[in-house]
Amino acid sequence: MPLIPRSRSRRSKPEAAASERIGDSVAATTCYMCAGRCGINVHLKDGRIRYIEGNRAHPVNRGVLCAKGSAGIMQQYSPARLTKPLLRAGPRGSSEFRPIEWEEALATATAWLGAIRARDPRRLAFFTGRDQSQALTGWWASQFGTPNFAAHGGFCSVNMAAAGLYSLAGSFWEFGEPDWEHARYFLMFGVAEDHDSNPIKIGLNKLRRRGVKIVSVNPVRTGYSAIADEWLGIRPGTDGLFVLALVHELLRRQRVDLEFLVRYSNAPWLVLRNAGGGDDGLFARDEEGRVLAWDRRSNGAVDALLPDIQPQLFSEVTLADGRRAVPALALLVERYLDPQYAPESVAERCGIAAPVIRRIAAELAETAFERELVLDQPWIDWAGRRHATMIGRPVSMHAMRGISAHSNGFHTCRAIHLLQMLLGAVDTPGSWRYKSPYPRPPTPAMKPTGQPHHVVPGQPMPGAPLGLPLGPEDLLLDADNRPQRIDKAFSWEAPLAIHGMLQTVIRNAWKGDPYPIDTLFLYMANMSWNSAMNTAGTIDMLTDRGADGEYKIPRIIYSDAYFSEMVAYADLVLPDTTYLERWDCISLLDRPIGSAEGPADAIRQPVVAPDRDVRPFQDVLLDLGARLKLPAMVTQSGSPRYRDYADYLVRHERRPGIGPLAGWRGANGDAIAVGAPNPQQLQRYVENGCFWQEHLPAEQRYFKHANRAYLEGAAAMGFIDRPRQIVLQLYLETLQKFRLAAEGHGPVQPPDDMRQRIATYFDPLPIWYMPFEEAAIDRAAYPLHAVTQRPMPMYHSWGSQNAWLRQIYNQNRLYVHRDRAAGLGFGDDDWVWVVSHQGRVKCQIRLVSGVNPDTVWTWNAIGKRAGAWRLAADAPEAARGFLLNHAIAEMLPAKQSPACANADPVTGQGAWYDLRVRLERVSASEAAETAPHFATLPPPPGLRPAAAVLRRGGDRS
Ligand code: SF4
Repeated sequence: MPLIPRSRSRRSKPEAAASERIGDSVAATTCYMCAGRCGINVHLKDGRIRYIEGNRAHPVNRGVLCAKGSAGIMQQYSPARLTKPLLRAGPRGSSEFRPIEWEEALATATAWLGAIRARDPRRLAFFTGRDQSQALTGWWASQFGTPNFAAHGGFCSVNMAAAGLYSLAGSFWEFGEPDWEHARYFLMFGVAEDHDSNPIKIGLNKLRRRGVKIVSVNPVRTGYSAIADEWLGIRPGTDGLFVLALVHELLRRQRVDLEFLVRYSNAPWLVLRNAGGGDDGLFARDEEGRVLAWDRRSNGAVDALLPDIQPQLFSEVTLADGRRAVPALALLVERYLDPQYAPESVAERCGIAAPVIRRIAAELAETAFERELVLDQPWIDWAGRRHATMIGRPVSMHAMRGISAHSNGFHTCRAIHLLQMLLGAVDTPGSWRYKSPYPRPPTPAMKPTGQPHHVVPGQPMPGAPLGLPLGPEDLLLDADNRPQRIDKAFSWEAPLAIHGMLQTVIRNAWKGDPYPIDTLFLYMANMSWNSAMNTAGTIDMLTDRGADGEYKIPRIIYSDAYFSEMVAYADLVLPDTTYLERWDCISLLDRPIGSAEGPADAIRQPVVAPDRDVRPFQDVLLDLGARLKLPAMVTQSGSPRYRDYADYLVRHERRPGIGPLAGWRGANGDAIAVGAPNPQQLQRYVENGCFWQEHLPAEQRYFKHANRAYLEGAAAMGFIDRPRQIVLQLYLETLQKFRLAAEGHGPVQPPDDMRQRIATYFDPLPIWYMPFEEAAIDRAAYPLHAVTQRPMPMYHSWGSQNAWLRQIYNQNRLYVHRDRAAGLGFGDDDWVWVVSHQGRVKCQIRLVSGVNPDTVWTWNAIGKRAGAWRLAADAPEAARGFLLNHAIAEMLPAKQSPACANADPVTGQGAWYDLRVRLERVSASEAAETAPHFATLPPPPGLRPAAAVLRRGGDRS
C-alpha cells in the first residue's frame, strides 16, 4: 500500500492512502501453477491481467496464494508461449518448423491417426504429463481403441496411490488428508513443498498454533522439515524399514487397537496354510465364497463379515474340511516381532538411532491410546450398531514422493498404512481421513482394458485403459505372455502399474519392444528433458534412424503451451492455451478437490482471450475425435457431438446422469452428483466462484469405510457400487494371487525369468528390501545417495521459466553435508562431477548441515537446455543450472536379470530416488559451468521476442 510522501510536514499525522484500483473486472477460476487446484480471483484492467489473489471462499486454499499462484500473471505473458501450429521442416531436434494453419494441422493429425486406427490402434501411444483432464484424455484413448494411454503418475507417485487404494481404498494427498483440526501428533514421510502446497501449509499452521508435535522423516531438512519439532534425517530408501521397526515396537509392547482391527480390517480373516498348494496364502472361504473367521464363542468358522463375532486372532485353526488356516493378524505378528525388525537391527541402515525409534513408537502409542479424542457425535455403523460418540486415535500421517519414488516404495507405503491400521488411526477423529468421494475399493469393474481381444481395428475398447487388476488374469498380455502395452504396464514387469509407466515409453518405442509404434502423441510432458531418465540417451532415441533412414519412432505429435525442450523433437506441434484462456474441469471422474468434509469439484473459465493462433488442447482432442469418427464423439449423422470442451463438460454423460461435473445437475440445477445435464451448469459454477462443494452431515464425516449413512449416500451419488462395509486390507490377498502364479499355479503364470521376481516382491504383507540400484552397484564406488525435490515456488519445468519465479531461483546447487564435504576435501562453491553408473553431471556445490550425511540433493527442473523456454542461451538456468536426470538410468544395472525398467517391481513407479553417486573433483582446465551441454535450441517460428525487462502485468519495456 503506497504511503503518503515524506515531503509532507513531519507534524502531520502519517496517513495510509487507499490502494489504487487494481483493475476494472475480476474473474474467478482455478489455479494451475501446480497440482494444488486452489481457487483464484484474477483482476483485469483493459483486458490484461494485473493481479491474481486467492479466493477466500474456496475450499482448497481459503484465500491463501503461494508464490507460484501469484506469478501466474507472468505465465500468461511468457515470451515462451507458442503462437501457431507447426510442422517440422528440418531434422528432429533442429527446432526448424513451418508455421501452418489449424486446418492443415488437424487434417495431418487425422490422416496419421486414422491410418493407425484402421490398422492397429495400439500403434498410437498417447501419453500426457501433469494433465488435469484425464477423465477426457483416458476416455478419448479408449474411444480411439488404444490401450497405450497414461498420464505422468508412473513417474510421480503411483506407489502412494496403489498402496493406498489397495490397502485403505483411499490414499495420501489426493484421496485423503490429515485431520488438521483434531490431530495431536503428526508424522510425515518424504514430503516436499510442491504437492498439495497450500493445504499443507494451512494445515501445518493449524498444528503449530495448537502446539501439536510435528515429526518429519526426510533425508533433507528444508521447508516443512525445517519447521517440524523433530527432523529425522533418514537414509533414502529405508523409510519402510524404519516404519516396520515402529510396528515391531508397538507389537512388542502390545500397543495396538485390536477392537479397531477386528471391526474394520481383515485382521481376523483366516489365511490358508497349505505350503506348495494352489490355495496357500489365500483367504479361507466357504462354499458360497464368503471369507471365514474363527468365532471363539461358537468355536467354529463363520462368515468373517458377520457383525459382533468374537474372532480368534492369534492361533492356527483346523477347518471342518481339514484345511489349516491362521488369522491374518497372527501372520503379521509372527513376521514383525522377528528380531530383524527390532530398532537395534535397523538403526544403522536407517541412520536413526534405536532409542529414537523406540521413543517415536512410544509417542505414537501414547497419543493414540492415552490421548484418545472423543467427539460427542452419535453415528451408526454398517451393521446398524449405534455409537454414542466418535472415538479417535489422534495420530495423523502424511507421505509423498520421497518414499514413493524408490523401487521399494509400494511396500514402504503399505507399511505406513499398516502402521495407521494398527493404531486405529484411519478416518477417525484426529487421524488421516478420506477425502470424498473416497473410500472407493478396487472392484472387478475397475480392471484395466487392453487385453488382445479388447483391441480391434476401427473400434473403441470396451473400457478404460487404466484400472486396478485383482489378479494375474487381469494383466494385459498377449498370447505369448508378452506385454500388450508399449510401456509394459500391467505386464509381469509391473503388474499393478495403475497409472501406467510414462517414463518407459520412449525407450520401448525406440526399441520396438514389445512392438513398434507409429505415432507418439504427447501432451504437456517434457520428455526430452526433465521428465526423462537418462536425458541424453532419450534425445538420441528420439532422433535415431533405422537402416531405412526413417526415424525409429516414426511420428511425434506434441501439444504444449510453451516452447519446452520437447517441442524441438515433435513432427507436428499443436499449440495449447494457457490455463487462464480455457474452460477446464477438475472432475469427480478424475481427481477432484473434495475434502474429508464432503465432495467438491471445480472448473476453469477463460478469463482472457488468447492473442495467438492457439486452441485449448481439450477442444482439439474432441475435434480430432469427431474427424476420426470416434463413436462417442459424433452424432448418428456423423457430425461432431460436442461443440467444444465446455459443451462436453455440460452434456457428456459417462453413465446415465453422471457427467464430468457433479454440481447443479438436473434440468433445473437442483440435483447433485446424479442428474440430467443442465445447460446452465457452467454459469452456476462461475456464479459460485468456479467450484461446487457439498457438506456431509456431521454423522458422516468419520469412519466413512464403515459408516452406514455415509456409505448409503456415497452409493446414491455413484461413488461406490453398493453401500457395504469397506474392509481395510492389512493382508493383501491380491498380491498373494500373483505369488501363487509365480509358484506355478493358475492359468496365467509369469515367464520363467520373472518367476523369482514376482514371488519375492508380491508379498501380501509389507516387506523391506534394499533399493535395486543400491543392491546392484558397487556401493563403495558410489557411496552417496542423490535425490531431488522441487522448490516451494516452482512446479515442473514451466515454473522455472517464469519471470518472477526465476528471480527466486535461477541456478541450482548440489547440497552436500559439510562434514562429508570436508572429508572429501571440498569447500563451498567448488565445482564437482556427480558420477553414477549411468553418467555424470558437472555442477557447483553448496555446503549444508540439514541433510543426511550420506546424501546429496538438489532442486529439480531448474536446469534448462540453452535456448529453450525463450531464455537467453547463456541464461543462468542453462549455464549454471543442472539436471540430475542425466545421471539417472532408465534401466536397472546390467547385472539385474531380466532387464527391467528402473522402477518398483509391483507398480512400475520410476525409482528416481534410488540414485547412487560419487563426487569427483573438476580439473582446473574444465570451465566453471554445468555439463553436459547440448546444442542451443533456436526458437521456432512465431515466438515473440523476449523483452529484457518484464513488468507487473506483463507490460514490456
Ligand atoms: S498451491 Fe500455489 S500454485 Fe498450487 S494451485 Fe495453489 S496457488 Fe496455485
